[in-house]
Amino acid sequence: MEGDANVTQLGGVGTKTAKSLEKLNIFTVEDLLFHLPAYYKDLRKTVPLAHIENKEDTAAVIRASVTTPPRWIKRMGKFSVFTFEVADGTGVLDINLFNLPFLFGKYKPGQSFLFFGKIKLFRERPQMDNPEIFPVEKPPGILAYYPLTAGITQRKMRLMMKNALAALEEQPAYSSAFCRTVPIQTDKTDFRMLHLPADEEEPLTARKSLVWKELLLFNRMIDLSGHDKKEREPLPIPENAVEAYIGKLPFTCTGAQLRSIQEIARDLSRPFPANRLVQGDVGSGKTAVALFAAFAVSLLGAQSIIMAPTELLAEQHFAFAQEIFGPGAALLTGSTGKKERGYIAAGLADGSIQVLISTHAVLYAPYPFKNLQVLIIDEQHRFGVLQRSLLVRKNPTVHSIILSATPIPRSLAIVLYGKADISILDEMPPGRLPVKTFLVGPNKRPDMYDWIFAQVRKGEKAYIICPLLEPSEGLPYLSVTELYAELSARFKDTPMEVLHGKLPSKTKQGIIQRFRSGETPVLISTTVVEVGVDVSDATIVAVENADAFGLSQLHQIRGRVGRGKKESYCYFLTNGSSLERLKILKDCSDGFEIAKKDLQFRGAGEFFGTRQHGETTFRVADIVQDADIFLQVRTNIDQMQQKFPRDYRLLTALARENAKKGRYLSV
Ligand code: ADP
Ligand code: MG
Repeated sequence: MEGDANVTQLGGVGTKTAKSLEKLNIFTVEDLLFHLPAYYKDLRKTVPLAHIENKEDTAAVIRASVTTPPRWIKRMGKFSVFTFEVADGTGVLDINLFNLPFLFGKYKPGQSFLFFGKIKLFRERPQMDNPEIFPVEKPPGILAYYPLTAGITQRKMRLMMKNALAALEEQPAYSSAFCRTVPIQTDKTDFRMLHLPADEEEPLTARKSLVWKELLLFNRMIDLSGHDKKEREPLPIPENAVEAYIGKLPFTCTGAQLRSIQEIARDLSRPFPANRLVQGDVGSGKTAVALFAAFAVSLLGAQSIIMAPTELLAEQHFAFAQEIFGPGAALLTGSTGKKERGYIAAGLADGSIQVLISTHAVLYAPYPFKNLQVLIIDEQHRFGVLQRSLLVRKNPTVHSIILSATPIPRSLAIVLYGKADISILDEMPPGRLPVKTFLVGPNKRPDMYDWIFAQVRKGEKAYIICPLLEPSEGLPYLSVTELYAELSARFKDTPMEVLHGKLPSKTKQGIIQRFRSGETPVLISTTVVEVGVDVSDATIVAVENADAFGLSQLHQIRGRVGRGKKESYCYFLTNGSSLERLKILKDCSDGFEIAKKDLQFRGAGEFFGTRQHGETTFRVADIVQDADIFLQVRTNIDQMQQKFPRDYRLLTALARENAKKGRYLSV
């Protein structure tokens, strides 16, 4: 079976399961295999029953033999429970199996099994409900745990992975000679090590190999889409354009903003297309800098595109652009209606629309512009390199500006963006108080929520972030759904809503609008708020299971508050497992500094986190964490062309095929 076969081709995956998998953005066998474990549990050690002291909620692997034949406790329609006793020579345990009637005949006295589950006490007797049961000769080893959605259990997910692995055909692979020079193995080996690791090293080995392959591919795709610096007519930007623009802004520019605006003014007046990267931490005011380019060319009757990574951000940029351009600004997203699109097409053609704010919808829109001169890509966490290439290819002399909040060093930026000029916004708008940051342990959690909701009753607004959208059994992380249930039961009088990336854009917009107006002062959200919700008077953010996130990501989340003049508060809830790491955030508010530290601290087991498909550019790679691989890959491609021409041809073919599929373009 090929990777792009539909998941329903796998044994045991029916239309119902496929529907559930869609919620995790899994459509093909390959999507499934790239659904990375969030967590591994090492089940190689069994524990004697007598050694389990606290029998409340302890998860363990018990090796024991069946001592009583199974008997039914209840059997009514779809509902059933049967039970049997097992013993390991140090103690006894009752095994209860709910709704698994077909397993009734499987357990006979005298047979031994491995039982993995939580042990609890019921009428003084230790019990396990629906443990995972393994034959003694097939011990579970290291188990992978995945982010889930309703209708899919860990057991089911693992079974599907096993089937997918078995069915996956070996693809044409890099030569073993090439693989000896780089840490690359075949896909099949990588996925096996990732999903069914034999030891704790294998997931790391597999990850490295997948990152290498992904970054080789990405690099080659950039090469193929590359464009030469063309000559073009310089634009006669009026002398007073900068002055006129800053006069229109509702605030005074920072020194860094002014410097960057002047750099852009010079770019536009040159006889070749600009390729500028504006880098700045969350809240440093990149939007106002970029919009200058649009303003300056509008004075000459020319047009600009601003491309945002999410509809939410596009809408926010649109609101800002309207203040400057009035009816000369238009918004085009996936949810723009047919009639509206008609007006936009007409406005772009006759030049009455000066700035088009869009999501990637614009990549595929066939609308001709009267006179397009500037392309702005706000990429936040993603890498809009290929998006830019695609648009630049259609308009080869257009000036392009990329806005990035990812703190990457200059050397890496140049590999990633080509010969880009870089402006750095290293100064925050004035009047911002640093966000007061606290680390909160489990015993202080109730007090923290009491305090937060007391503040909310006084008129403050709070974001509460969870690593998961839906409960995923076995993962030690809280989901938005669970937290909403908990908090809405506990604080009945406070309106709160749930926000996540999978809601339709209109719904999201409504939720943000109600949050902004104060009608719903509490938002319980996944990390979608990290990519750019801008509500300047929100003052509180709390992050559940902060241990599950990277430092840079937490820093971005924290950046959602402290945007106004009021004192803001940030709470990172931690079980203590990454206290050292989190303490860095408490003392530091410099995104570049934090990114550096993030690298030093991230260890095994935290590699995959809980990221969901479609939330980042890469499926496996992380540009901050894997910066060194990225740099090595670049030099390797050049050597590859010389020394391994067959591998180079394979890479090129893969790059072409992926470009055709639009990989790394969807935002
Ligand atoms: P980012 O760099 O994260 O994209 P934004 O451009 O969204 O930052 O700006 C963050 C907020 O700060 C916005 O509400 C914006 O209006 C405001 N802002 C930007 N520059 C200034 C400034 N010089 N003074 C005051 N507020 C500013
Ligand atoms: Mg921004």
